[in-house]
Amino acid sequence: MTAPLLLVLDAGTTSTRAIAFSLTGDIVASAARPITQHYPASGWVEHDAGEILACSRACLDEVAAQVGVDHIAAIGMTNQRETVVFWDRTTGEPLARAIVWQDRRTAAICATLKAHEPMVQAKTGLLLDPYFTATKIRWAIANWPMVGAAARDGRLAVGTVESWLIWHLSGGTTHVTDATNASRTMLMNLATSEWDAGLLALFGVPAAALPSIVDCAGALATTSIAGRAIPITGAAGDQQAAAIGQGCLTPGMLKATYGTGCFLLAHAGAVAPVSHNRLLSTVAWRLNGRCAYALEGAIFVAGSAIQWLRDGLGIIASSAESEELAQSVPDNGGVSFVPALAGLGAPHWAPDARGLICGLSGGTTRAHVVRAALEAQGQQTADLVDALAADGVAAAVLRVDGGMVANNWLCQDLADSLGVVVERPRVIETTAMGAAMLAGVGVGLFADLPAAAAAMANADRRFHPATDAATRTQRRTQWQTAIARVLA
Ligand code: ADP
Repeated sequence: MTAPLLLVLDAGTTSTRAIAFSLTGDIVASAARPITQHYPASGWVEHDAGEILACSRACLDEVAAQVGVDHIAAIGMTNQRETVVFWDRTTGEPLARAIVWQDRRTAAICATLKAHEPMVQAKTGLLLDPYFTATKIRWAIANWPMVGAAARDGRLAVGTVESWLIWHLSGGTTHVTDATNASRTMLMNLATSEWDAGLLALFGVPAAALPSIVDCAGALATTSIAGRAIPITGAAGDQQAAAIGQGCLTPGMLKATYGTGCFLLAHAGAVAPVSHNRLLSTVAWRLNGRCAYALEGAIFVAGSAIQWLRDGLGIIASSAESEELAQSVPDNGGVSFVPALAGLGAPHWAPDARGLICGLSGGTTRAHVVRAALEAQGQQTADLVDALAADGVAAAVLRVDGGMVANNWLCQDLADSLGVVVERPRVIETTAMGAAMLAGVGVGLFADLPAAAAAMANADRRFHPATDAATRTQRRTQWQTAIARVLA
């Protein structure tokens, strides 16, 4: 037998990629195709599901040809979450464009259902927001005649992106969704990981249109590449896959991705946590019918604050320059920068808030402002970590990825701000790595996720907290004063 490889299909928001991993976690080959973004109206974002499928097949074929299809032991899937596809189960054709997670067209529906939010949160762990899938389905059935007619005649199939792809890759035989993706639809009961009849009724979603909810690893479906049958044995939504790829497998292990914005997921163990701090409670994975859970929070502005310093203010020439500038001064000189350029996300939830730079004096230089912008990442993360602690999850370690963490100063400041060890991985494709780990478990190459994490070990560099508690507290107080001004 030739050395087995795990092939991952990562159907993201802006691109679809296929990546082949060795069992030791190295990337052997990859291919990518961009996905067209459609903006038919203000706040609307759509994808062509047929394009996602065609690009997925092309990427899978390309990588299989590069590595030799006989080497591929199994396929793992990961995807942009919450985005929903509508298709005709008799023909397999999309009935409309896919409505993308960013789409805000259902804000009015959410507003009319606001009174149900406590019940919805108790059942799903989610807050009533257009982001999640349920109101998108309700809107499409009501407003797109092709979708509404298919729903009435029982021809409608609905699914998130991985569900759509698995349906087609399996030749229309398998309509499933993994429990992590299902947990983002706002239709799944978090405790049972089954569709909830009350929620289906509330959002007007016909049960017959929905896929079956399945584990994240196991014999999910079978596809064919270059005439060879290959099992699909792993699936998880992108943030969950990244947490798995970062080896966040026990309570208190956190992963945060610092890109344009920041997404933080904290492993929370075997019981669904209830957040009293407006964090989202979600499925981390489901294996052998049993769920593990996570708490999740998003920061809207992370790297985009650095981009704004470069393109808006023009005080740095490149994002990378922020590192040497921050290092060039001993402290922030009293400057705080709350980068609420697009409102504040978790745990503040103030979409209309706007940014603030304060504490300026005659001695303030651009280095202080740049340093404050980087420090804001640690402080925003600390706000989330405090909310997690209040919800019962104490941070043990933070594993980071995303474009910003190339900045060593930032990583050290995260450790200093939080007082926890920050770890940066060797292979930055943590999302795809997590899907590969699940596929490896599902096909029996690894006994379980800890064994997969050990085999594909990915830690590279550790940053240990180096400031004393008094300094950490003083910086928290300075930040909290600035946040209070923004919220006022
Ligand atoms: P996304 O996936 O959201 O498009 P990336 O993960 O590619 O984003 O990260 C890009 C972001 O990271 C940009 O906003 C950029 O300003 C920021 N960034 C990149 N390099 C650095 C750096 N060395 N220091 C600080 N920020 C950086």
